[in-house]
Amino acid sequence: MHQLTLAEIARGLADKKFSSEELTRALLARINQLDPQINSFISVTEELAISQARAADARRAAGESGALLGAPIGHKDLFCTQGIRTSCGSKMLDNFKAPYDATVVSKLAEAGTVTLGKTNMDEFAMGSANESSYYGAVKNPWNFEHVPGGSSGGSAAAVAARLLPAATATDTGGSIRQPAALTGLTGLKPTYGRVSRWGMIAYASSLDQGGPLARTAEDCALLLQAMAGFDAKDSTSIDEPVPDYSAGLNASLEGLRIGLPKEYFGAGLDPRIADLVHASVKELQKLGAVVKEISLPNMQHAIPAYYVIAPAEASSNLSRFDGVRFGYRCENPVDLTDLYKRSRGEGFGPEVQRRIMVGAYALSAGYYDAYYLQAQKIRRLIKNDFMAAFNDVDVILGPTTPNLAWKIGAKNNDPVAEYLEDVYTITANLAGLPGLSMPAGFVDGLPVGVQLLAPYFHEGRLLNVAHRYQQVTDWHTRAPNGF
Ligand code: GLN
Repeated sequence: MHQLTLAEIARGLADKKFSSEELTRALLARINQLDPQINSFISVTEELAISQARAADARRAAGESGALLGAPIGHKDLFCTQGIRTSCGSKMLDNFKAPYDATVVSKLAEAGTVTLGKTNMDEFAMGSANESSYYGAVKNPWNFEHVPGGSSGGSAAAVAARLLPAATATDTGGSIRQPAALTGLTGLKPTYGRVSRWGMIAYASSLDQGGPLARTAEDCALLLQAMAGFDAKDSTSIDEPVPDYSAGLNASLEGLRIGLPKEYFGAGLDPRIADLVHASVKELQKLGAVVKEISLPNMQHAIPAYYVIAPAEASSNLSRFDGVRFGYRCENPVDLTDLYKRSRGEGFGPEVQRRIMVGAYALSAGYYDAYYLQAQKIRRLIKNDFMAAFNDVDVILGPTTPNLAWKIGAKNNDPVAEYLEDVYTITANLAGLPGLSMPAGFVDGLPVGVQLLAPYFHEGRLLNVAHRYQQVTDWHTRAPNGF
């Protein structure tokens, strides 16, 4: 049963081949048996899962249907879940039980999903390897010596290991697409404002966006359908109609114009990944797509700009964790300053502290113009590059990551080396564009991802292209050895 996709689960439940409770119990047993090797969960919510599964079975028995009714999923541990620990991968929130559900969580619950647990993640979503979690590193099911990518590494590893058919995740600079690529999954980062951020613990508010991680584009469509939509509680949520994503999956790719940015294929890209990306382009050409070289000339500035903007916003967002209102508080503070200093010093890990310091510096009087303002101008140039490119092409295609999943610990002494791994994903966040990563082959037994980008609110086009590709390839069906 664990090999079933969400779409197959929907059919199985509708045909009464199994109940949601049976499926949920089978997956919980698998999590108990296999997750100790992978560490993809921070909390397993067994009681909640069984009660939600029973409720879903009762709704089906009463005549209700719905693609996600009774479907087991996991939530990245930065989506607030009422009465259940929401740790954000940090000691700071180790004891935090949210008093409410995030909009994404409540929308998915209304659709009938069953929450099996909260997945591991880099602390406060900062990282590309899932090594900065207070709860320990997550291992890549394709090879336990390698990272699964981050920051949604727990969601990715759990889905890749068939512990879950799908999970929620978030993407600030690549954290849905990059772990999808490194674990052989399909992951979609929606347009900024498409999915509500309410109840999603903030890292960098102008970049953060929630989305689905699953094995297929078809399953991402099902999840996005339930997650997307206007939410008055999120002031950056956009009131745009949500199309029927599943209905658009099979549209023809005849005449689809694909842009290959020359900057995505330059130095720094593993040539074995480049070969697989070109092979995926050939497949899409066979389906009728036409290809054109394009240029995104300001891409080289994306990482420096991101590593000013994201830490600046993080330093502001994370100021609320002060040891007073909620979260970790140090023992026996001697005065207020000592309380702040030690609560934050003991509650946050080293990467989070580094980002807070960089961000506070970039925002300080005298440096604001030189760093933050400058970075915002670069952001505009990057957006303009995309707008110009989308005059000529319908989607942009390239590698999701420059390298394969690296060995756990390999980049621990060099944070900048890890930052550079996001070179192809970060631009979509800076511009607010939707992006998808889909599996496109293997090198040395490790998965490789191809990234597709589209204009604002064209998530449906990304899902369509990926779905058509997945009908003529089988990379997305491969499972790691032993799973
Ligand atoms: N790796 C990037 C960072 O550390 C992106 C993380 C993310 O998308 N949450 O900021």
